[in-house]
Amino acid sequence: MSSFWMPFTNNRDFKRDPRLLVSAEGMYYRDVDGNQVLDGAAGLWCVPCGHGQPKIAAAIAQMAGQLDFAPTFQMGHPAAFELAERLIDFSGGRFSHVFYTNSGSEAVDTALKIALAYHRLRGEGGRTRLIGRERGYHGVGFGGLSVGGIGANRKAFGPLLPGVDHLRHTHDPERNAFARGEPEHGAELADDLERMLLLHDPSTIAAVIVEPVAGSTGVLIPPKGYLARLRAICDRHGILLIFDEVITGFGRLTTPFAGDWFGVEPDMMTTAKGITNGAVPMGAVFSKGFIHDAFMDAPPGIELFHGYTYSGHPLACAAALATLDVFAEQGVLANAAAIQPYFEEALQSLRGLPHVIDLRSLGIIAGIELAPIPGQPGARGYAALKAAFADGLLIRTTGDIIALSPPLVMERQHVDELFGKLADVLKRLA
Ligand code: PMP
Repeated sequence: MSSFWMPFTNNRDFKRDPRLLVSAEGMYYRDVDGNQVLDGAAGLWCVPCGHGQPKIAAAIAQMAGQLDFAPTFQMGHPAAFELAERLIDFSGGRFSHVFYTNSGSEAVDTALKIALAYHRLRGEGGRTRLIGRERGYHGVGFGGLSVGGIGANRKAFGPLLPGVDHLRHTHDPERNAFARGEPEHGAELADDLERMLLLHDPSTIAAVIVEPVAGSTGVLIPPKGYLARLRAICDRHGILLIFDEVITGFGRLTTPFAGDWFGVEPDMMTTAKGITNGAVPMGAVFSKGFIHDAFMDAPPGIELFHGYTYSGHPLACAAALATLDVFAEQGVLANAAAIQPYFEEALQSLRGLPHVIDLRSLGIIAGIELAPIPGQPGARGYAALKAAFADGLLIRTTGDIIALSPPLVMERQHVDELFGKLADVLKRLA
C-alpha cells in the first residue's frame, strides 16, 4: 500500500482510509469489501458507455492476440487508419485529420506545438504567444500547465512557458448563481482577448485554448454567446482557436462534441478519455484541413517532428473502434439526450440543502458548489467525497465543488439513486 505514489491524491490520508475498486459493470463499481458503488463520475469523466462493455473488451483481447504493438513512425497498421476515418465521421466531417496521443495532457501539448509550427510554416513565425484562461485545466505537461489556470497545479513548478497570457475565467456566482443551462451574464469576458491584442500585436499570438465547459475546475459553463465571441475575435486576427474537449468530447453534452452543442467550430480539438471508453489510454488531436494542408506544403521530408512511441497503439485503436460501434449500436447519445432533462431536474432538487450555494449543469455534467468551511477550503468537498463513497457513491470533487458526470447510458433509477444518496450526504455533512 505504501509504495504507490498516487496522483492528485492526499496520499497520507488515503493510506489510512483507502478506497479500492476491484471490478466494474454498467453503472457500478464494486469495492474490495464487495460493496456496490454507483459511478457518478464515469471513472474520471472517461466511461461514457458504462463499464464492462463486452464488445470493447473483446476487441482489445482480439487485438492483443493479433498485433501487440506496431510503430506508427514511417510505418503503420490498418486499425489506426480506419479509426482516423471513423473519428472524422463521428465529428461530422468538420475536421480532416487526427493526430494520436496517449492522454489528454499529450493531446494538449501536441495541439499547442502544431499551432506554433503551423504559423512558422506559413512564414508567421512571430506568432509564438499562447493564450489560456484562468481556472482552465489542460493536463500536466509543461505546455498544458502553462496555458492552464489553476494556481495549485502550477505553483511548485517554476516559471513554465514564457509568452503565455490568461483570459479571465467566466465563473460569476454574483450574477449567475443557480442559472439553468448557459448563464446569461458574461459573454463580454471574451473581449479580454481584444484587450490582450492591445498589449501584444495580434501578429504575435499563435493560439487560444479553452475548455468549452471547464470540468476539472468545478463545471464552469460558458455564458451565452461567449464562445462565439471568442471565435469571432480569433477569426479577425488569424489566431487559432483550440477547444480542449478531453472531458466534453464523446457525448458529455449529448452531442458528439461540445462544439456541436454550442454551434462554434474550433480549428483544433483535443480529446482523450471517452475515445476508448476509458479502457485503454488514448488521446487525439482533431485538426481542420487548412492546418494539415500547411504541413503538406512543407519541404519534402518529415513534416512534423513530433509523436509518441504509442501514438495509435493497436490496443487503443481497437478499443476506440469498438467504442464508436457501441455509441452507434446502443444509441448512447440519444439516451443521454433523453435522460438529460430528468438529470437536470434531479440536480435542482438539491437546492436548499445545507451548504449548497450553486447548482449548474449542461448536458450530462453537473456542478454542486458547497460553501467552504471558514479557513479550510476544500475540506467540505473532501468530506463529501468520503461520505459519498461510504454510502456507495463515487463522485469527483474539486475543492468544495462536487462534479457529476455519470456514464451516458444511465437510466432514471440511477439518477434517483445518485441524487438520493447525494442529498443524504449533504444533509449529514457538518
Ligand atoms: N484537458 C482537460 C480538459 C482535462 O479535463 C484533462 C483531464 N481531466 C486533461 C486535459 C488531461 O488529460 P490526461 O489526464 O489524460 O492527461
